[in-house]
Amino acid sequence: SKLRVGLLFGGRSGEHEVSIISARAIANALSAEENSHKYEILPFYIQKDGVWQAGKVAQEVLISGVARENPAVTPNLWQFPPQAAEIELWFPILHGPNGEDGTIQGLLTLMQVPFVGSGVLGSASGMDKIGMKTAFAQAGLPQVKYKALTRAQVWSNPCVFPKLCDEIEAKLGYPCFVKPANLGSSVGIAKVRSRQELEAALDNAATYDRRIIVEAGVIAREVECAVLGNDNPKVSVIGEITFESDFYDYETKYTQGKADLLIPAPLPEAVVQQIQEMALKAFAAIDAAGLARVDFFYVEATGEILINEINTLPGFTSTSMYPQLWANSGISFPELVDQLIQLAIERK
Ligand code: ADP
Ligand code: MG
Ligand code: MG
Repeated sequence: SKLRVGLLFGGRSGEHEVSIISARAIANALSAEENSHKYEILPFYIQKDGVWQAGKVAQEVLISGVARENPAVTPNLWQFPPQAAEIELWFPILHGPNGEDGTIQGLLTLMQVPFVGSGVLGSASGMDKIGMKTAFAQAGLPQVKYKALTRAQVWSNPCVFPKLCDEIEAKLGYPCFVKPANLGSSVGIAKVRSRQELEAALDNAATYDRRIIVEAGVIAREVECAVLGNDNPKVSVIGEITFESDFYDYETKYTQGKADLLIPAPLPEAVVQQIQEMALKAFAAIDAAGLARVDFFYVEATGEILINEINTLPGFTSTSMYPQLWANSGISFPELVDQLIQLAIERK
């Protein structure tokens, strides 16, 4: 009999729409000839207000690719659709907060059903840029200089704040990048070049998150590596992102034609190998499982490779970097989702 797979998508995050497109691509791949005899897919859609929908509503969103407007009255969030009890394996494809950060993973763990991707620790450490960088430093991975801050420090009394900015300027210089620690898709990130911009960016980042990170800016090529597996994961070829804008911001990420993926990235073989080794170290450092995309800065001028971040539920649309990297490494999209499900079962 077929394994009943709950495809979990949408979610309470700014990446709600991307999640729907990712889920649609995965549903297609699970219905492909090589998979359709193995899996029965039940869609579960999390509305923007956090309410779960199964059955017809979820199916409609999946097929149309269009988010559902929140209903006027929000029902009790804890009334899960009854179909949830039938699920034998969960495939969460939620990006950002409330989906990629360990919250959903905790819930699925409590349900005692295997699920695709990292568990609570891997997801949470991959999401929080401060926790992530601490784990990377411990693993000996080179990265940019940074300073971790809290909202309370940024919004502290007016005598403390200037000292904080002095410290940032002395340690990191300009340009530097101000980021909310727990977001994705470049939301809330600013590249700053002066004291005035720094102050404004810190204040803005504090509206998004309790935790904030400021990093020294580097001039580098942006290259990414896909990882697939549990305890003995494999790595893909390297991909590169090219764009004209100042940095890889939200608009560049999501406007058609503003960024190009180059797979494989034109890199010396020794650099490729070093990136792949670092990707595996990063995967292990945060206790990731199943899948992750590890992003790097390659400073061509010096040959330096710095790790930027790990994403435990990377974009998974048919044109996204993660599945494209595997397609270029000999694993088709349907094979990839099949392997992810098998990895989830194996890890249970
Ligand atoms: P997100 O998790 O939202 O993708 P990132 O940390 O990857 O956040 O930052 C988004 C983009 O901002 C990067 O892809 C890069 O273009 C730019 N960027 C971030 N940090 C730096 C840095 N320290 N130096 C240079 N560019 C950076
Ligand atoms: Mg990210
Ligand atoms: Mg990024």
